[in-house]
Amino acid sequence: MTEREFAINVVKRLQQEGYQARWAGGCVRDELLGLVPKDYDVATDARPEQVRQLFRRTIAVGMSFGVVEVIGPREGDRNLVVQVATFRSDVGYSDGRHPDTVVFSSPKEDALRRDFTINGMFFDPLRDELIDYVGGRDDLRNKILRAIGDPHQRFAEDKLRLLRAVRIATRFELEIEPATAAAIRGMADQIGVVSAERIADELRKLLTDRHRVRGVRLLDEFELIKPLLPELPPLKNFPHQQGLDLWSHTIRTLEHLPADASFPLALAALLHEIGRATLTEAQTLAERKAGALVASIADRLRLSNAETERMVWLIENQHALQNAPKSRPSKLKKLFIHPGITELLALYRAEALADGTDAHDVAFCEQLLQTWTENDINPPPLLRGDDLIALGLKPGPLFKEILDTVRDAQLDCTIRAKAEAIALAKRILSDREWHT
Ligand code: ATP
Ligand code: MG
Repeated sequence: MTEREFAINVVKRLQQEGYQARWAGGCVRDELLGLVPKDYDVATDARPEQVRQLFRRTIAVGMSFGVVEVIGPREGDRNLVVQVATFRSDVGYSDGRHPDTVVFSSPKEDALRRDFTINGMFFDPLRDELIDYVGGRDDLRNKILRAIGDPHQRFAEDKLRLLRAVRIATRFELEIEPATAAAIRGMADQIGVVSAERIADELRKLLTDRHRVRGVRLLDEFELIKPLLPELPPLKNFPHQQGLDLWSHTIRTLEHLPADASFPLALAALLHEIGRATLTEAQTLAERKAGALVASIADRLRLSNAETERMVWLIENQHALQNAPKSRPSKLKKLFIHPGITELLALYRAEALADGTDAHDVAFCEQLLQTWTENDINPPPLLRGDDLIALGLKPGPLFKEILDTVRDAQLDCTIRAKAEAIALAKRILSDREWHT
């Protein structure tokens, strides 16, 4: 069974019991666009307790909001699931983000509480009938994003909608209707009331979308950039080259990312020049500083450790492939072992294309990645800690330095056997003893 078939069954079961039931929101929009919805939501006049009685397996995810999850049969490695929500109105919004309370209400009121017209439609899959109280179908046809009701009031209720507007307009290539756009611009500086996690969720969706450049331009146009990423505005008017500033360079870099770029890659591309805008020292210093700077941004946005590490690594190594043909093999191999190497190559290529410079460093590295075997790039070490302990050394800074030096020599193919490794270790050791 597919998720869609299960979502039809849930509607059927509710209707058999005499309730109203229909699909609602994002899934209706996606189906009209011929896309496969990520998930199906069902709206009904059945109360949460009644929904729970009707289905064998349910999870009460938000009884006070009227939301019950109905669990379906297993498909692959997970169970099918459909969210069933009772028609409701949201009231209050005193924190600018969440309703203070909800009251169960009519289908029409349930449509009117939703954010944008294209997200406010219902569809009855049994009667094959669209129920559209808000003009969502016309707006979808005309590719318009329009707030339901008074845009000012709707954004004042829930400031997350400011970002949802940009993200949804970006994803579906919609023009933002003028009154809706004016309201976003007028309220942009209030985006800070939204939690870091929800902001990051929206940025993640926006930046992984293939239309990410338009998304970033919209953020800029609505002045959402400054409250979200205050590190970016200094790029404007900061000279780069050929009369371009760092901001245009950044936009161009984003334009040249692969369509399916990951979030850490896209965010790294967006942030890759912030070090230069705040610093005039040597490049290596800028890179380390830029790494720390993006780490603090990742922390602020509460990104996962994996996302943070990848992004910081990309920023810190953004120039590491420069002059690759002249680099020592050990340096390249250590980069090539890293799981982020494909993203690093993509970032480096995007920047080269942005500047109209030759991307031959990238081509060279890709060639090497093809030629070198796994064993060339990451051979079993010739020398291990145990070997040094056997030589009478104790773990410590010198211990590590010796291991690193010997490893580099191995990767550079200047040594090829264990005996050579031990000889090199002894040489470093006696060198050190001579000097101290
Ligand atoms: P996605 O494809 O990203 O899931 P979606 O539109 O389905 O997009 P959801 O967050 O799954 O977004 O929300 C489902 C529906 O709930 C929306 O289509 C909309 O009708 C409504 N909705 C979601 N968030 C809000 C909000 N902040 N304010 C008003 N209505 C909302
Ligand atoms: Mg959804």
